[in-house]
Amino acid sequence: MDFLVLFLFYLALVLIGVVMICICSKTHYLKGLVRGAAQIISYIIPECLQRAVLKLLHYLFHTRNHTFILLHLVLQGMVYSEYTCEVFGYCRELEFPLHYLLLPYLLLIVNLVFFTLSCVSNPGTITKANELSFLQVYEFDEVMFSKNMKCSTCNLRKPARSKHCSVCNRCVHRFDHHCVWVNNCIGAWNARYFLLYLLTLTASAGTMAVVSTVFLVQLVVLSDLYLETYVDDLGHFQVVDIVFLIQYLFVTFPRIVFMLGFVVMLSLLLGGYLCFALYLAATNQTTNEWYRGDRAWCQHCPHAARPPSAEPQVYRNIHSHGLWSNLREIFLPATAHYERKKN
Ligand SMILES: [Zn+2]
Ligand SMILES: [Zn+2]
Repeated sequence: MDFLVLFLFYLALVLIGVVMICICSKTHYLKGLVRGAAQIISYIIPECLQRAVLKLLHYLFHTRNHTFILLHLVLQGMVYSEYTCEVFGYCRELEFPLHYLLLPYLLLIVNLVFFTLSCVSNPGTITKANELSFLQVYEFDEVMFSKNMKCSTCNLRKPARSKHCSVCNRCVHRFDHHCVWVNNCIGAWNARYFLLYLLTLTASAGTMAVVSTVFLVQLVVLSDLYLETYVDDLGHFQVVDIVFLIQYLFVTFPRIVFMLGFVVMLSLLLGGYLCFALYLAATNQTTNEWYRGDRAWCQHCPHAARPPSAEPQVYRNIHSHGLWSNLREIFLPATAHYERKKN
């Protein structure tokens, strides 16, 4: 009982933490919280250790490196090995349909294809050669993107919806975000690969969660476990309940139950992020614009410092032209054709 409560408490804490970060990252509270925490930590931890941690964080999140790609492949490899070594074999013994059990492998292959494409494809790097063609793609809204803006680092004119990625040190057309998991920017030309990668990753985690759950439920039903009784701490006979069953399964199949917990949590987190990415795709917004658009709107808030005389600049999305048109823009980016023809 204690273990299960502790585990669920831990799971809830992780999920609440992630949700809080998602909500608070758009406000000043998180920044204040982080600054406060950093100040407290700086008193406790020696300076050399602080420097080492900062250096490591800088390397992980502000330089291009393959750490997260490796971590991604290791985690995926571990989950699939567990599935292959235990779940697949047990499910075959229980005569699960083969196509049902092979579905996670099919999703894995498709996922790895889109993962590789997201990692290696050009997100839409702006160069001297393609600068002019990119400038013609999107209208300037004069709130978030104004004409005649230049990137001081690349020394190029900034097309509407583009942004300089400080990690990759380049300007990217229709910049969405820099993803550490694929070690690449997500922009106009690879947003489609990234979306399909996210979709197949969520689907493979979800499928694996369903197969493992069905297997465990089937096991309990076939062995009539739920009809059994057990002796509790006080020596009384008790009818098996759901808490006892979960603990029993954890002790009997620790790796499978642990993997199930992991893929369930992953499915929830990825599912949430996928919904957000689909919402952005359907409304023709990038993560960068969504974040900045909300801040433009937030200039009405009393927290934001602005001269009292200044007119509040309200950002309005001028790029959305209906669901299908928005999706077509992601899956058939206009300038990609232009580049291909030129090549
Ligand atoms: Zn730049
Ligand atoms: Zn980047």
